[in-house]
Amino acid sequence: MSDVKSDIEIARAAKKKPIQEIGEKLSIPRDHLLPYGHDKAKVTADFIKSLEGRPDGNLILVTAVNPTPAGEGKTTTTVGLGDGLNAIGKKATICIREASLGPNFGVKGGAAGGGLAQIVPMEDMNLHFTGDIHAIGTAHNLLSAMIDNHIYYDNEQGIDSRRITWPRVMDMNDRSLRHIAISLGGVTNGFVREDRFDITVASEVMAILCLATDLADLQERLGNIIIGQRRDKTPVTVKDIKAEGAMAVLLKDAIQPNLVQTLENNPAFVHGGPFANIAHGCNSVIATKTALKLSDYVVTEAGFGADLGAEKFLNIKCRKAGLNPKAVVLVATVRALKMNGGVAKDDLGTENVQAVKDGCANLGRHIENLKKFDVPVVVAINHFIKDTDAELQAVVDFAKQTGAEDAIVAKHWAKGSEGVTELAQKVVEVCESSRSAYKPLYPDEMGLVEKIETIAREIYRADGIEADSKIITQLKDWEKQGYGNLPVCMAKTQYSFSTDASKRGAPTGFKIPIREVRLSAGAGFVVVVCGSVMTMPGLPRKPAAESIRLNEQGQIEGLF
Ligand code: ADP
Ligand code: MG
Repeated sequence: MSDVKSDIEIARAAKKKPIQEIGEKLSIPRDHLLPYGHDKAKVTADFIKSLEGRPDGNLILVTAVNPTPAGEGKTTTTVGLGDGLNAIGKKATICIREASLGPNFGVKGGAAGGGLAQIVPMEDMNLHFTGDIHAIGTAHNLLSAMIDNHIYYDNEQGIDSRRITWPRVMDMNDRSLRHIAISLGGVTNGFVREDRFDITVASEVMAILCLATDLADLQERLGNIIIGQRRDKTPVTVKDIKAEGAMAVLLKDAIQPNLVQTLENNPAFVHGGPFANIAHGCNSVIATKTALKLSDYVVTEAGFGADLGAEKFLNIKCRKAGLNPKAVVLVATVRALKMNGGVAKDDLGTENVQAVKDGCANLGRHIENLKKFDVPVVVAINHFIKDTDAELQAVVDFAKQTGAEDAIVAKHWAKGSEGVTELAQKVVEVCESSRSAYKPLYPDEMGLVEKIETIAREIYRADGIEADSKIITQLKDWEKQGYGNLPVCMAKTQYSFSTDASKRGAPTGFKIPIREVRLSAGAGFVVVVCGSVMTMPGLPRKPAAESIRLNEQGQIEGLF
């Protein structure tokens, strides 16, 4: 349809209000908003502190079935539902992640929602925004520089330069930096060693910023980061290098959440953006908690499908931050379910009710899984123009039979808030009914191996895990060192419940192989790597950057 406007065209036409007016909706005094231009502002740490003791609003998580190339629209639905709640007279705020800049120059795409459910200014949000990610990169790299400097000047801590695990970071897709040699060129440049660059959002500093409760907690967590080992294999921490104070100084602004608005001028916090594989993939705890103090409903999103994103949101973020989600909105699309039912991407345009029904096995498993956390689930069917009534009805019927509170077709992408009022009303009803009795899937005291097994069996429905003795020994060692009570952070493909990305639907008869485990002692979780994880993406053969430019009006073209 040629009259369908692109996301960027819609965003450009937005009638934005000055950010102070958005702050007023949440009763944030003007002197506690730190404006970055006219349409973005940080909320001061002092104001956030003054909110302590206020009651919390209702927290709603938006998650989805396993992603497919057909697209699911979690962010679009998060934004749409936030607008929908405001439209029915509720005071609602949206909380989503900040976007990493680098990947935008690879594949065209944005992280601010789509259609009539977007957050603006979307160009800023996808580029430098308020500089948080740059600050995180700078804090991270200060530590990198201090580690090599420590070794250069006598290496008092006895760091084994072959066992440094702290890399360098940059917010750019650059595969040539995945494995590098540093300190080449003679004695004055230090000791030659191998090193690597990760993309900034994969930094543990990002995960820490997103889990910290305030600046003091941030500094404490930074100090606990393990950067490598000595020759006797004992861990070297940031405190040993004495870098945590300076790192915290560099992050003092970045830790304050960013307030922006939706196309319908409703408040949205966009703050923090950790990777969803080697980290937990949710916006900052500070933003979520602040939003909960300032509004009656907070709609937030977790990365990837519910097997990874919701699992980590519920087992890591909510557990650690003491959050009590009242409802989960599980996004499904007819297109994604058809693909889960075996249809190829090119054939998605033809009605195929049977394929939708087959693909519902994926949806069903996610519904059952979420109920294990004792949170009520509402299915949101994100409507695409070519969906047929029979296909939509098949999803509604299935979801209701499988234990969802309801399944509701939502048209926020095409219509904005007026397309999503039924879903908003349902979510309010579920929150008000107090049906949620949220509890994490496993207790803190459970052993690390058992925690991994619990997720593998209960969430992925695997027959068990496969890990060689070296990995089991490492996990046991960490338990002895006092890290046994940490939650685990699974890094596996987002496309399947299994570790084989091609197995869509609801696969059975597989095991979860554990390749590697890493301790993120500052963030406070053990990363469990099941398959290859990419922490420095590359650019594609034809990067989006080739078509990105400024037009005659100085507007950005080619980014979205
Ligand atoms: P996710 O958060 O799940 O990765 P997004 O919400 O960012 O997904 O959406 C991905 C893309 O799909 C965006 O470009 C968005 O405009 C598009 N999209 C989302 N919902 C719809 C819809 N109902 N119809 C058409 N396009 C949609
Ligand atoms: Mg998203």
